[in-house]
Amino acid sequence: MKQGVMKLSEGACLTFDLILKNKVMTKADLCHLLNKGISSISRYLMELDETGLILEDGLADSSGGRKPVLYSVSTHRYYICCINISTIYCEVAIIDLGLNVLQIESFSVNRHTMPSDVILQIQSIFENQKRKENLKQEDFLGAGVSVFNAVKNEEGELYHPIIQYLSEDWLDYPFAVALEKALKLTVYLDKGINSAAMLEYNYGKARDCEKIIYILSAMNVRSAMILHGSIQRNSPFYEDAIGHMTIDYDGKKCQCGQYGCLNCYASIPAIVSSVQAAIKQGQTSMLSGDPDRINISAICECAKQGDSLCSQAITSAGYMLGIAIANQINLICPDKVIISGLLSAKSRIYYESVVDSAKKRLAFGGFQNVSFDRGDEFQNALTVGAGAMLLEKVLHNEKRISCFEIEESGFMR
Ligand SMILES: [Zn+2]
Repeated sequence: MKQGVMKLSEGACLTFDLILKNKVMTKADLCHLLNKGISSISRYLMELDETGLILEDGLADSSGGRKPVLYSVSTHRYYICCINISTIYCEVAIIDLGLNVLQIESFSVNRHTMPSDVILQIQSIFENQKRKENLKQEDFLGAGVSVFNAVKNEEGELYHPIIQYLSEDWLDYPFAVALEKALKLTVYLDKGINSAAMLEYNYGKARDCEKIIYILSAMNVRSAMILHGSIQRNSPFYEDAIGHMTIDYDGKKCQCGQYGCLNCYASIPAIVSSVQAAIKQGQTSMLSGDPDRINISAICECAKQGDSLCSQAITSAGYMLGIAIANQINLICPDKVIISGLLSAKSRIYYESVVDSAKKRLAFGGFQNVSFDRGDEFQNALTVGAGAMLLEKVLHNEKRISCFEIEESGFMR
């Protein structure tokens, strides 16, 4: 489904990509990074200027002579529809080319919600958001969609997950095709964790990295790996493959039927149930009220205030995740590990325990040059990440994404 096709030369496309990811650039920066002369770069910039994709954005500092012009992306030239479908809610947003969220709205989903109903709601929200922003259909590059499980094919059918959180109707449903018809936009689907990781890799704390591991720890533990710009697809049958890594062969029974999976120790339900069990067994805590009504926010807050039971539960969970991360680090030697998700966001104790535990288990005495960071730069990372993923596909001219038609020129980087 084509929008207005815009022809760009391959050089202009690469130039645009660099300006997009670096916010502002001078001609000299572009010459250096693309290994091209000033006349080629000027030609690419002129092409981008004529299509309204970039603008002059002030002057850079200069050590002498004329100050160089800074170029940035014209954020309002195009917009992207972003959608995140989790197992409990669906979020719909409109972002501009600067990845700024202009409109965002969500609605609940549950195991009875049909995919066709979700599409109808998305369509209605999107139309409303477009109207509020006074945007037309041709202003959109397409729609990026984060989904809760691995995508099987271009039609947008999903793999059967180990744990079926949603209705069976989602399986084998050509979600991308149906959504394209409803929104009249090119649609790109990917697993949410991959979208969030690519967002961090291209625009966030991992921008200068070659290899990263991205962890999202909340109701379960999920991970993504990016090696040299490409997502390494892990098992398509688990939305949370790392969460089912055996961390204790003689351990607790997991929902997947195996024993001792990471999810049983490092996730929100694991922390909550361990605190509930300890209180029921008579251990003291600052937490008050019915143990069955304790939630993770209260546990994180009490841990912060020094409650030893809550602090111990969170530290133990982080310790187990650290072991799993160290195993992954020792396999792929990443530059950076980013820990995101509600547990890391709400509890510094959890994050520090994860990092401390992982560092202690790095192979060869910890000589690996890996850094750790919290993934707290982007709100709505799975939603905005879906849009960033669509943009990536547009710029790299993936076959289904056809808004920019790129003329190949044998350009060498
Ligand atoms: Zn499991």
